[in-house]
Amino acid sequence: MIDIETNIADIQLKIRQLKDASGRAAGTVRLVAVSKKQTVEAIKIAMDAGQSDFGENYVQEAVAKIHELEGNSVVWHFIGAIQSNKTQQIASHFDWVHSIDRLKIAQRLNDQRPAQKSPLNVCLQINIDADNAKAGISPNNCLSLAQHVAAMPHLRLRGLMALPVKSTNVDVTTESFRRMHTLFTKTQQALGLEYFNSLSMGMSQDFELAVEEGATLLRIGTAIFGARSS
Ligand SMILES: *Cc1c(COP(=O)(O)O)cnc(C)c1O
Repeated sequence: MIDIETNIADIQLKIRQLKDASGRAAGTVRLVAVSKKQTVEAIKIAMDAGQSDFGENYVQEAVAKIHELEGNSVVWHFIGAIQSNKTQQIASHFDWVHSIDRLKIAQRLNDQRPAQKSPLNVCLQINIDADNAKAGISPNNCLSLAQHVAAMPHLRLRGLMALPVKSTNVDVTTESFRRMHTLFTKTQQALGLEYFNSLSMGMSQDFELAVEEGATLLRIGTAIFGARSS
């Protein structure tokens, strides 16, 4: 039996302990429960346990869940690959998008964000390990895209996101997280925007390391909900 409530409590406790040990300020690490391929019932259990941020990868699946849970105070994060023909739905239904990897997608999300909603919180996805199989922009192109996105009135550029290559070697993952943190700090200084304060990295396998290396948004699925149905 998967105990979602206990899993969330255990992860939150670990985050607190790591923050205390590293002297980081309280409230700077936010847990996004990745609920792709999980049921609405599982999401409700997590909500009852105090979880408010949820991450989804597939637009159609996500929009159905968002409709079903309407009226609850849920913060929805889109964390998957973005196709142009899906930007309208993403701009209409989500609060955050972590996976912006090109100007055209940012422009479409900006143009399609409903006027009555607050600006869409966005992060740029960085291909930190220069992995051909992964989405994301190269670190060299980060500042230029960030400056374009920061100028868009219906988007609020909140930070950077990364999905490092899976490695069983802790040193390799640590190195990727460090390069992300350095890029994040440099971009933050160059932009000078107070709300550019979010570094989205760390998943079930490596979130502890990510917290130690400065993550502010953790995207955790299986460690909360168990294995995903396919
Ligand atoms: C699925 C997914 C996660 C969660 O992965 P787990 O290993 O289940 O914690 C995090 N980030 C992204 C971008 C994902 O697609």
